[in-house]
Amino acid sequence: MTTGPSRLTPHPPVSMNAAGGRCTVVVGCQWGDEGKGKIVDVLAESADIVARYQGGANAGHTVHVHGDEFILHQIPSGILHPGKRCLLGNGVVLDLPKFFAEYDALVERGIELEGRIGISQRAHLLLPYHRALDHAAEVRAREKIGTTGQGIGPAYVSKSGRRGVRVTDLGNAPRLERLVERAMGDALQELEVGRFAATELEAGVWAALALAGRTLPMATDTGREIVEALAAGRSVLMEGAQGTALDLDHGTYPFVTSSNTTAAAAATGLGIGPTAISAVLGVVKAYTTRVGNGPLPTEFDEEMGERVRELGGEFGATTGRPRRCGWFDAVQARYAARVNGLTGLAVTKLDVLDSLDEIRIATVYRVDGELTTEFPADTWSLSRVEPVLERHPGWRAPTTEAREISDLPVEAYSYLARLQELTGVPIEIVSVGSRREQIIHV
Ligand code: GDP
Repeated sequence: MTTGPSRLTPHPPVSMNAAGGRCTVVVGCQWGDEGKGKIVDVLAESADIVARYQGGANAGHTVHVHGDEFILHQIPSGILHPGKRCLLGNGVVLDLPKFFAEYDALVERGIELEGRIGISQRAHLLLPYHRALDHAAEVRAREKIGTTGQGIGPAYVSKSGRRGVRVTDLGNAPRLERLVERAMGDALQELEVGRFAATELEAGVWAALALAGRTLPMATDTGREIVEALAAGRSVLMEGAQGTALDLDHGTYPFVTSSNTTAAAAATGLGIGPTAISAVLGVVKAYTTRVGNGPLPTEFDEEMGERVRELGGEFGATTGRPRRCGWFDAVQARYAARVNGLTGLAVTKLDVLDSLDEIRIATVYRVDGELTTEFPADTWSLSRVEPVLERHPGWRAPTTEAREISDLPVEAYSYLARLQELTGVPIEIVSVGSRREQIIHV
């Protein structure tokens, strides 16, 4: 018997990010609405591809460019930079009529989109019966989650229940019809709707599917595109929606969204391996907000809540609902740093605190008389914790014109230094206003 060489010849890796193209995940670290859209828009300048990996039209990322406001629901926030490629991964649930309404509205506002958007062939479709199921579930529920009512939850249920319809199915009319008839039959049975409502719902479903002709030319393998781009030394930005405390596994269950929002989901939601990711940037507001129900340990009293809500314009971009507001919660943020493996932090909306006399940070929780720095898995416990608040003097001066960290008042600097210390993550970016240029690269 002859034996071969003692080692296999090294072979260029096909999936690891060995060529050094930068691959950064931008992830919300609180309950969503952290200002990810603005941060992604700023970073997209130096990226080649911007990709969404989970969620759907429940996201509402607001970006201000040259005096214009854009609210992006399904299309990645990088789209406002000419020529950048934008991808929607297999982890998103795609609402076709809403997607094309958003697409057409951008074109109408002069954004060139031809050839710029790719949609994963493996992405699941959100169809009108999902919205009807969402609505019915929220009406029936004794304990309301406070969903956006967009059908996102039921669409993910169809996916995990293996009754989903995917983008790739749009290319095979007989199979599509079979899949949809079956899924819709199940939904109608569950909904117990009358004949008229059923006919209307069916018409909505077929109208959505009639957009197949516009969708299929955008269908792609997002994982392959990303790996090839990285191998060519290009850079990729992955844009999370919602936030860590809304993650299906790591959030305040059951008051969570129906997908994994944390950084690892960028890999599964786009079809790449974790070794392709080079950095994870966590986005936190300089305070905390939450929409919908569920615990918010540092929540303000009514008067302070109203004040910060007005100062920060804290009303939902998708639903218009007022957001609940509270102090920065370092226990929650430290937990987010761990579950996301953060390499850097972007702190947004520092300017919202400009007029406050005093600012507080929750450093530990008191639970049944015991102090803990752990974010409890038990949501019921979380609703009973008493945050221990550290007091910081306010800076009472505008920060909106600061462009360097040294432009900030010393109290604002100390506040940020403390956030960095408590979270254990270096602050890389500070945002001091909604406009693109209101940014400090630390
Ligand atoms: P996202 O879903 O995480 O992208 O966040 P949203 O778009 O829902 O909410 C963030 C809101 O804050 C938007 O209206 C942004 O224009 C705005 N915003 C982002 N960064 C800043 C900032 O640093 N200061 C102020 N005042 N507003 C900001």
